[in-house]
Amino acid sequence: MRHWKSIGNLSFLWVAVIFTVTLFLPIAQPAAAQDIVVCPGFTAEDEIDIYHEVDFAESIVFHVCWHNVPEVLEATLVIESDVFQQPIERSVDAHPNAKEGDLINLNYPLDLGATLIPAFVTLEYTWTLHFLTEPPQVQEAQTIHYIDDSVLWTKTSSEDGTLHVHTAPGDGEVAQIALDIAQASRLEISNLLPMTSATFDPIDLYLYPDAETFQSTLRLTGLDWVAGKASPEIGAMMVPISNRASMAEDLGQRIPHELSHLLLYRAAGDAYASIPAWLDEGLATQFEQPVNSNYAESIANVNNSTQLIPFKEMCVNLPASPPEMALRGYAQSHALVEYMLQTYGHEAIDAILTAAKSGEQCEDTLVNAIGLEKSGDQLAEEWLSSLQPDFFDLRSPLWIGLAFILGTFLIVILVLWGRTDGTRTIKDYNR
Ligand SMILES: [Zn+2]
Repeated sequence: MRHWKSIGNLSFLWVAVIFTVTLFLPIAQPAAAQDIVVCPGFTAEDEIDIYHEVDFAESIVFHVCWHNVPEVLEATLVIESDVFQQPIERSVDAHPNAKEGDLINLNYPLDLGATLIPAFVTLEYTWTLHFLTEPPQVQEAQTIHYIDDSVLWTKTSSEDGTLHVHTAPGDGEVAQIALDIAQASRLEISNLLPMTSATFDPIDLYLYPDAETFQSTLRLTGLDWVAGKASPEIGAMMVPISNRASMAEDLGQRIPHELSHLLLYRAAGDAYASIPAWLDEGLATQFEQPVNSNYAESIANVNNSTQLIPFKEMCVNLPASPPEMALRGYAQSHALVEYMLQTYGHEAIDAILTAAKSGEQCEDTLVNAIGLEKSGDQLAEEWLSSLQPDFFDLRSPLWIGLAFILGTFLIVILVLWGRTDGTRTIKDYNR
């Protein structure tokens, strides 16, 4: 997660990042018998019909309809998403009294109060029918783009139709500001990252009208932070307008930051999960305009690696709390990626992506990247030593200080020498 506003206010940080709990609970539950529900639009000619009804943050009802030939015992439902640690599996009994040829509708209502799902993610679900006499039949997988429809969104699109800004009623003017920021930063970011066929795929930016509405959505969907969020799998970003007075600056930080996550995901493809979190966040912070000044302050007094959060501990996530540690995570990531880009150029990013795509995991992506045989922490040592004055560098403060002292000493000697010499001359003259 990307941001952020004032020095005193650390609320821009992740307060807690981890999804609740319920997503990780397994899973298979006893089959439940159901009342017969009519299948809308299902005709005698249809073999099978699968559909779903989404009520944002309340429930998703998964339906499967068919004519009961051959006879079905039960149906099982598997729901998958990148945000789940494991798939959700449920089974539903077929109607016990259904006769051969009857129209059957089985459904499973997923309670989104108990199973929290972040907004703007993709879910994929599959029904499998289990017959009395025949082998099970797996149905075609279905996709749900789980969009927050609690705000009455209005869409404003770029001329080429690849950027869409969704705003709440009355925020039409903000849409244009956001669109301009997104277009400029997309160009800047895509210049740094390797181009793929997905780079300029459509992007949807949801601009929440205020921090409260945004936080409410996050809370309802099991997340708790206020900065901004990217859902790269569906090309969506969520950013709140937290403060109307500093809106342009806030959006200038948040939109490019989230966009960087999204475009890195597109550049990395399936290897995105293998890219160190510190690299992903450190890269995103490079595009903030202006860069959050809190980063520099957070690491101003760091001068050796024991004062750093080890980079190997920031492979998967940056620390979420306490706030000063969360800020430190971003600050370190920003500084290290800045150093890496200055020292090794954007080729380092290409090399890391190549390593990730060839199956290297997290720290190994760096170690094995071409021309960059270093772990994150070794790179950090190099970065820190680059901050130390070099004894043999004549431009270092040490040498400048010495030269100043010696110079002053010499001038004093010369002045005193001149005075002594002059006195003697006068004396000589008097004689
Ligand atoms: Zn971020």
